[in-house]
Amino acid sequence: MDYQHIIEDVYQEVKSKNPRGKVADYIPELANVDAEKFGIALVDLDGTVYGVGDYEQPFSIQSISKVHTLSMVAHVFQRKLWSRVNVEPSGNPFNSIAQLEFEKGIPRNPFINAGALVITDALTTKFDDPLEEVSRFIHEVSGKECVTINQDVMRSELRHSERNTALAYFLKAFQNFDNPVEEVIQTYVAHCSMEMCCVDLARSFSFLANDGYSIYANREIVTENVARRINALMLTCGFYDESGEFAFRVGLPGKSGVGGGVASVMPHKFSIAVWSPELNEKGNSVKAIMALELLTDKLKFSLF
Ligand code: GLN
Repeated sequence: MDYQHIIEDVYQEVKSKNPRGKVADYIPELANVDAEKFGIALVDLDGTVYGVGDYEQPFSIQSISKVHTLSMVAHVFQRKLWSRVNVEPSGNPFNSIAQLEFEKGIPRNPFINAGALVITDALTTKFDDPLEEVSRFIHEVSGKECVTINQDVMRSELRHSERNTALAYFLKAFQNFDNPVEEVIQTYVAHCSMEMCCVDLARSFSFLANDGYSIYANREIVTENVARRINALMLTCGFYDESGEFAFRVGLPGKSGVGGGVASVMPHKFSIAVWSPELNEKGNSVKAIMALELLTDKLKFSLF
């Protein structure tokens, strides 16, 4: 398969159509990024990298890190975890608090903020230094030497964390949060502030395309069974209240972040990361979604 040729075609087509959105600014530091940036990196199961555009430039991965944190705890206490977080699409914005009341403190899924906070709480219980463990995990699954946390983005989000803090206290009120709220918020915001380029991000998702086995870590990161479930969650919940649309248009499991990144996998074939900072009103990258739609159209295959 001539992946390089295909992603170059996709890149040019998206550039010429030039769909526009708006760079996230509720985390003020994110608004300083160059809105014109656009890159694609595809990594096949042998580790061959295909890239185009700004694919080697680091960006803020934000909510894409929720897939890494979920992968870290899903295999450790799989059964217990699913009693604390559901596996249903929310049909609501990523930072919504309303549903938590009706669902008695059990978040709809691990990718909305409430669910991801429960996962980071579980990490905090499990590890003495959860952030260090997240960095170690990313290092292992991407083969990258060190992962940088953008301090400016982190401080900027910490200054505007009222909503996530409210979600965490609400979870605590329902006894679904074990650790001190401020401590978990710090870790959560820090892992959202990690920076990666498209290549490293695609590599870090490669084990999900490969039945849970990472060619970078040379070991099984999650079992094949857990890998399938994480992919199912990405397909049904990875784009918040636009998950149905992504499944319809692209047909691959994927996860977005408000930094403009999308990471996605085609099981048994490749993982891919696309980055373009302008977002639609659901908080998902406009160009990244168009690029992935064109990709599966050109490849003539998706999950379906
Ligand atoms: N850190 C961001 C937040 O909690 C992540 C949101 C996102 O990428 N959708 O608001």
